[in-house]
Amino acid sequence: MARRLHREHHHIGNTGWLRAAVLGANDGVLSTASLVLGVATATHAHGSILIAGVSGLVAGALSMAAGEYVSVSSQADVEKADLAVERRELATDKEAELKELTGIYISRGLTRELAAQVAQQLSAKDALAAHARDELGITEETTARPLQAAIASAASFSAGAIVPIAAAMLSPIDAVVAIVYIISLVALAGLGALGAWAGGAPLWPATVRVTFWGIVAMAVSAGIGMLFHVQV
Ligand SMILES: [Zn+2]
Repeated sequence: MARRLHREHHHIGNTGWLRAAVLGANDGVLSTASLVLGVATATHAHGSILIAGVSGLVAGALSMAAGEYVSVSSQADVEKADLAVERRELATDKEAELKELTGIYISRGLTRELAAQVAQQLSAKDALAAHARDELGITEETTARPLQAAIASAASFSAGAIVPIAAAMLSPIDAVVAIVYIISLVALAGLGALGAWAGGAPLWPATVRVTFWGIVAMAVSAGIGMLFHVQV
C-alpha cells in the first residue's frame, strides 16, 4: 500500500480511469438512446426497440474496445521500443547515461553536486526505472495496458447503454420516447457533472454542455425515426 505522500487532494490521481469511464458511459447513453428513440418513433414495438438497443450496445462496446485496444497497443509498442533503446544505452554507455540523468535533475533546479548525487543513487537502485520515469515519463502507473483499457471502455460503454434500454423496456410503449428521453438526459447530466468533478473542473459548464448536445443528438434521431414511421 503506497504511503500517502500528499496532505492536499490532487485530481491527477483519479483523472485517468474515471474520465475515460465517464466518456465511455456518455457514449453508451447517447448513441444507444438515440438508436432506441429512432426505432421507438419508427416502430412503436418493444421487440424492435430491444433488438436495436442490444445490437447497439454490443456493436458500440466492441468497437470502443477494439479502438481502445489498437490505440493503447500502439502506445505500448512505442514505450517498449523506447525502453529497449534505454536498456541498450545503459548497457553500452553507462557514463553518458548518468550525465544525461544528472542534466535532467539540473534542469529541474538541483545544484550540479546534488543532481549528480541523486542521479548516482537512483541509478544504483534501478537505472532503467530512473531513466524511464525522468527521461521518458513512463512509470508503473502510467504505462500502457491495452487489454485493461479495452475492457474498461467496453464496460463503461455497456453501463451507459443499459440505461436507455432498461428505460425503454420498463415503459409502456406509448411513453417510451418521453421516458427514454428524460432518463437519458438525467444520466448524461450526471455523467457530465461526474466527469467535471473528476477533472477538478467547474460542474455546471460541463453538465450544461453534455446535456445540450444530448438534447440535440436525441432530437435528431427521434426526428429521423418519425420520418420512417411504419405501421406495425
Ligand atoms: Zn537515458
